[in-house]
Amino acid sequence: MKILLRNSDLNEALSGVSNLGFVPTMGSLHKGHISLIRKSLISCNKTIVSIFVNPTQFNNRNDFKKYPRNIKKDLKILKNLKVNFVYMPDKNQIYSSTNRVKIHLKKKDKILCAKHRKGHFEGVIDVMTRLTKLVKPSKIFMGEKDFQQLLLVKRFIEKKFKSKIISCKTIRDKNKLALSSRNLHLNKKDLIKAGKITKEIISFKKRLSKKKISKKFILGKKKEIEKNYNINIEYLEMRNYKNLHISNKINNSKIFIAYYLNKIRLIDNF
Ligand code: AMP
Repeated sequence: MKILLRNSDLNEALSGVSNLGFVPTMGSLHKGHISLIRKSLISCNKTIVSIFVNPTQFNNRNDFKKYPRNIKKDLKILKNLKVNFVYMPDKNQIYSSTNRVKIHLKKKDKILCAKHRKGHFEGVIDVMTRLTKLVKPSKIFMGEKDFQQLLLVKRFIEKKFKSKIISCKTIRDKNKLALSSRNLHLNKKDLIKAGKITKEIISFKKRLSKKKISKKFILGKKKEIEKNYNINIEYLEMRNYKNLHISNKINNSKIFIAYYLNKIRLIDNF
């Protein structure tokens, strides 16, 4: 496994590599990341994983500072998986002054996390554009856990580059909670609570009939969960999973949630 810190090393290591699979991450790797990496290892000639906690996608400085970092453990995991390359750039490698990218989201895209985390997706798309330009992968593996991110990055990247975005299923723990590096910030009590909330939404979705479902009905569920678990839900919405328009039918739709547990923001979709 080659560890690459500088763009010049990256260029040299990747020259002549074809059918390259790329898994961009912010580290603190868990089984969700590992499932993406395994998919790349199976379907590509070589696999590169990046670890870069991208400052521009954090709308809160403290959140960036406190984001879990476990480089030693990550490298051990990647070595065991037999990943070919790990790219661990610092900020200067990614944000040199010569490669400015200006990203604008349309008004219709400013929903869900884009509405509540100002500048977040602009930062994500910016860094993904820079990374794709550098790595030039055939395929980029991304998780459905971050569904809105997946759709936006797919739209921007596939328009600009030849790389294809491959979507990968959400990996959950035994309590159904979606794995996330941020779960490391949760105490045992909150982990149990998050598992219960997750199960509650899964069963709520199962019980939804094929009939029309009003916005008010979903709002009622939101209020019920907020009250029962004493939490703050940023959004609980049912949206079409192709265009993310608000939906009133369960067909072709997903339920999206973002909520806070002890100041830790969790997102999921079902
Ligand atoms: P992150 O390190 O959080 O930026 O995530 C890197 C990639 O892993 C993104 O494409 C995420 O959507 C994906 N990912 C994160 N958690 C999971 C999960 N539980 N299941 C599947 N993919 C995930």
